Amino acid sequence: RADAAKELRGEPGQLKDGTKIPLLANVGKPGDAKTALEYGAEGVGLFRTEFLFIGNEEPPSVEEQTKAYAELLAQFPGKKVVIRLLDAGADKPLPFLTQEDEPNPALGLRGLRTLAQHKEVLEGQLKALADADAQTDADLWVMAPMVADEWEAEYFTKLGKSFGLKFVGCMAEVPSIAVMADKVSQVTDFVSIGTNDLTQYTLAADRTLGTVSNYQTAWHPAVLRVIKMICEAGNRNGMPVGVCGEAAADPDLAVVLAGLGVNSLSMTPVALDDVRAELARHTIDEAREIAAKALNGDYYKAPCWCELPQDK
Ligand code: PEP
Ligand code: MG
Repeated sequence: RADAAKELRGEPGQLKDGTKIPLLANVGKPGDAKTALEYGAEGVGLFRTEFLFIGNEEPPSVEEQTKAYAELLAQFPGKKVVIRLLDAGADKPLPFLTQEDEPNPALGLRGLRTLAQHKEVLEGQLKALADADAQTDADLWVMAPMVADEWEAEYFTKLGKSFGLKFVGCMAEVPSIAVMADKVSQVTDFVSIGTNDLTQYTLAADRTLGTVSNYQTAWHPAVLRVIKMICEAGNRNGMPVGVCGEAAADPDLAVVLAGLGVNSLSMTPVALDDVRAELARHTIDEAREIAAKALNGDYYKAPCWCELPQDK
């Protein structure tokens, strides 16, 4: 089965009936780009820019950033590359940007909220991305992490466009953006669902805590229903919806996501073969049927402490 999956490398991600689901790679450091290409990624669906900032006393200069972004973009001529602005805070603390004394860091200043407090970092990153875009031929899409609603979505999209960026979008990681998805889809170019955080916030379970790790699954029908809200609004209003969290790397869940109306999937490169192969085994109608069962909770196993003892 692994060999059969490998044989499809180089083919585009698609369902059995030919419905295209482009398969992209998550890239967290420059070396990952090579691996992504080896595994047949059709582009990059999430470039995490944190590595440029981690371990430094201060933010990298615009020139340093431009160089790093251009190096990545140059490896994907003509292909889609989604670059995410810095997600500082919570599970990704940065000494010079984030506060250490927050009692609930995941509910505090992180992502776009941190950038809003450090406009020079936000605008420096957008400038570097626009400069790198001008030097290269990739299809650059830029997005912000932790966008909560249509006001933040509109602010970020307009700001990005004022720097000359063509596609500016938002990550959907906070349930409020899903609740407001019809509004959001009218003010931004695309949404990429970060299922790691979306799961954490939908189920109110810290993604870094082992004691509540059994909640950290996008198979939970509550998470899938939130994803469905985003897909419905996106598909109705012509706004592309991707998934770039861990959920996209689970071949069976990838089929469910396709059935819910997700347009593209981005994952760790080594997962691409199996996801590509599994998608090719189902038509869109079958994927929709499977998704309906998943929304009903048919594939979700509640933790054992929810089971009543036999004699009660
Ligand atoms: C996510 O939250 O699903 C995501 C892709 O972002 P990160 O894991 O970097 O927070
Ligand atoms: Mg996230």
